Amino acid sequence: MRILVAGGVGFIGAALCEKLLGLGHAVVCVDSLQTGSAQALDRLRASTCFTFLHQDIVQPLDADQVGPVEQVYNLACPASPRQYQQDPVKTIETNVIGTRNLLDLARLTRARFLLASTSEVYGSPERKPQREDYWGNVNITGPRACYDEGKRCAEALVQGYHTQYRVDTRIARIFNTYGPGMRCDDGRVVSNFVTRILDGVPIEIYGDGNQTRCFCYVDDMVDALIALMASDCATPVNLGADREVSVAELAHLIGRVLEKPVTLHRAPALVDDPRERQPDLEKCHRVLGWQATTSLEAGLLKTAAFFAQSQEHSHA
Ligand code: UDP
Repeated sequence: MRILVAGGVGFIGAALCEKLLGLGHAVVCVDSLQTGSAQALDRLRASTCFTFLHQDIVQPLDADQVGPVEQVYNLACPASPRQYQQDPVKTIETNVIGTRNLLDLARLTRARFLLASTSEVYGSPERKPQREDYWGNVNITGPRACYDEGKRCAEALVQGYHTQYRVDTRIARIFNTYGPGMRCDDGRVVSNFVTRILDGVPIEIYGDGNQTRCFCYVDDMVDALIALMASDCATPVNLGADREVSVAELAHLIGRVLEKPVTLHRAPALVDDPRERQPDLEKCHRVLGWQATTSLEAGLLKTAAFFAQSQEHSHA
């Protein structure tokens, strides 16, 4: 199959491209290289079945240049709060105009379309676990709104193209994902904590550290995305792992797994930082027959090995 992956040089995107190439597909990757990794691009370019288009999805795509594709994955948008808050207008444009441009391409080429949406559509949830029929609790004008509302609008657009233009669509609500391939300066909790603990410097806990997340290993997430694309489910599906840990627990767990001492520093809480986040995965298990298999401990070890190796290279 010939498959387009927008954001294919990003963290999850590059892992997805690699998996699709390994399965024997041809991949057309569209990426603006805003946050993507040059190393990942070099690795992917080694495959003769990989085509790279250096393009921002906010600009309309040229269907002739792209050529025929049977599937379109849209993973193009920085997902780390630090990254997506740097240019809120651009984040909204990427999610809304970019998604529309890709939907137009899918409509024209009759490709199946998958949107990488997010647990952020639930905002700071008032119920736990979050099921797909929960409408969420988002601060419309807060610092996270550019991403949260951008993705909510993207979901509405996907739904519109599905009902109005009969585009074959899928919506993945991706919960926190981590693993090798993350940028060490990405700003998210796993990359921050693992790199600092490896370097023997204190980590920063924003707020009281009792806020919770559930972390899914990247290879598991890629399998879930491929399974959702292959399914016949057009309504949103939560994808992730459901073992809930607090940020403070995560810090100590990383210390234990890496057998390194952990020093915690308190930093001010972030505005609108969700207190609790845990996916209800019943639909995902039922519809996709999928569940994450990598334990947090095993995934953290692999992630630490990746960062240790990248640091060796950057110090060499
Ligand atoms: N966090 C933290 N220290 C850090 C980075 C993040 O305490 O160095 C906290 C952050 O406040 C949030 C949680 O870890 O409660 C997860 O943050 P992340 O940016 O990874 O993802 P998101 O908030 O989008 O789930």
